[in-house]
Amino acid sequence: MTGERILVIEDERRIAQFIERGLIYEGYRVFVAEDGISGLAYARDNPPDLVILDWMLPGLDGLEVCKRLRAASDVPILMLTAKDDIKDRVIGLDSGADDYLVKPFSVDELMARIRALFRRSTPNSKPEVLRFSDLTLDTGTHRAHRGPRAIDLTAKEYELLELFMRNPRQVLTRDVIFDRVWGYDFGGESNIIEVYVRYLRQKTEQENEPRLIHTVRGVGYVLRED
Ligand code: CA
Repeated sequence: MTGERILVIEDERRIAQFIERGLIYEGYRVFVAEDGISGLAYARDNPPDLVILDWMLPGLDGLEVCKRLRAASDVPILMLTAKDDIKDRVIGLDSGADDYLVKPFSVDELMARIRALFRRSTPNSKPEVLRFSDLTLDTGTHRAHRGPRAIDLTAKEYELLELFMRNPRQVLTRDVIFDRVWGYDFGGESNIIEVYVRYLRQKTEQENEPRLIHTVRGVGYVLRED
């Protein structure tokens, strides 16, 4: 028995029951909320270890629920959606979701994603401050600084920057980045890495600050000085 508490926010009863049965079978403790408001209220009173959140909910939609959950805690959030469109995935992940599952999905796929989220959210080492050039990244607080300037990062931006900071001057291929940051393949034509590199550059390169994350055309990216 693992006993981790999982909050499922899903209005379609059939899907909620399918998820609940699978989770209970694996030993998780489950609470199901049928809309965003009651889900948020439950999460506030009984902080869960992970949230499975449907995108399409009556009233408050999943994106808004995700933002409010994220504003209050770092709980891992797995979003469910019927929309299989990369733009929507980026919006979902940027709103603070940690991962994404497109309906219909198998119970095995759901469990694999949940295990991966729990693995990633469990720190396996003591916090440290990673340094490269004038960029620092605190693995405890998840905050970055460029020189004295503080930089706020979303969960995914942090993971991507941590990967670069742990592998300075090494070219990281798109496959490696997908595998290490997203934990699975987004599919050949996804531009999600480009999108997140752009976010990171906007935050880490203000005027007069030289570029640190360089594109290696046709291969991937590398953290290096000019
Ligand atoms: Ca729904």
